[in-house]
Amino acid sequence: MQEWQKQLAHTVTSVETVAGRFGVDPEPLREAAALYPFRVTSHYLGLIEAPGDPIWRQCMPDSAELFEDVRLCVDPLAEDRHSPVPGVVHRHPDRALLLVTGGCPTLCRFCFRKGRLDSDALELSSSRFDDAIAYLESRPGIREVILTGGEPLLLEDDRLDDILTVLRHIDHIDILRIHSRAPIVLPARITDSLVSLLQGVSPLYLMIHVNHPRELTSEFADACARLADTGTVLGSQTVLMRGVNDEPETLEALMRGLLRLRVRPYYLHHPDLTAGTGHFRTTLEHGRRLMEYLQDRLPGLAVPRYVVDLAGGLGKVPVAGDCVESLGSTAILRAPNGERVEVPNKSWGE
Ligand SMILES: *Cc1c(COP(=O)(O)O)cnc(C)c1O
Repeated sequence: MQEWQKQLAHTVTSVETVAGRFGVDPEPLREAAALYPFRVTSHYLGLIEAPGDPIWRQCMPDSAELFEDVRLCVDPLAEDRHSPVPGVVHRHPDRALLLVTGGCPTLCRFCFRKGRLDSDALELSSSRFDDAIAYLESRPGIREVILTGGEPLLLEDDRLDDILTVLRHIDHIDILRIHSRAPIVLPARITDSLVSLLQGVSPLYLMIHVNHPRELTSEFADACARLADTGTVLGSQTVLMRGVNDEPETLEALMRGLLRLRVRPYYLHHPDLTAGTGHFRTTLEHGRRLMEYLQDRLPGLAVPRYVVDLAGGLGKVPVAGDCVESLGSTAILRAPNGERVEVPNKSWGE
């Protein structure tokens, strides 16, 4: 067993353990964890300095998750509807998602696949994998495949190698991308053998999900350095969250820190309308002010694109320019197909 697998076998799943360690009442945590499972790696847990801090809020259950609203749902992006075969989400003609596992080493409380993660629907059995590959092969318009999940880097090296090899041998697929949070929550996963496996795959883009400057640990920096040295192109995605990273200085420090580690900020996501995550929402106006602050101070290389993934699977649109028709308590954004889409523009549950 490799070190990362040992760490994985010892992820923390008991809210009592954490509550005891920090001296807080476990009861509210227990209630939310009964609805949405709790799991965190020791590494990520070790980044918490105090209850309620930005790391805590991302991984610890919170009674605000119990808040319900008809506009919050389990599959806000209608991924099911855009799934031609199990394991594939195909919304844009030229790129498709391949969901390779439903497992995650840390279950993020803000996750947009929250509530679907541990379900069998996200497990890619070998027969499902064959069907998924047959689908990707049958669509010559697909140029890019994005491995996601769950956490794609939870797959063992051999399995990952098999999948990447099969995809690389499909003629019309030029680019492979992996969406991962492993370098943040389980940096031990970035082993030398993984790095050399990825080195053989080009072009390969690794988009790392990172939300707060305190996540930029020395272990993370080391993982990025080794990945970047092999030619894997690194990018980042950040979810804008109230109480986590909605201060301008926090986002500035995050983007500067990422750029220094050769990670190019890619997206700043406005939270999706996922059940159990309403308390993380900020207003779009607030997000736009943050973006102006970043644009005024940072090199263009460090400025992400601020986007909303529209409900119903209409795609990501920038919260800028013509895409924003109006703001207010319900904003109206314009989808790429011209449709006007309402976006609830407030926070809930606190
Ligand atoms: C986000 C997403 C992609 C990738 O979009 P990019 O803008 O290229 O990062 C592809 N397919 C689906 C279904 C997505 O949600």
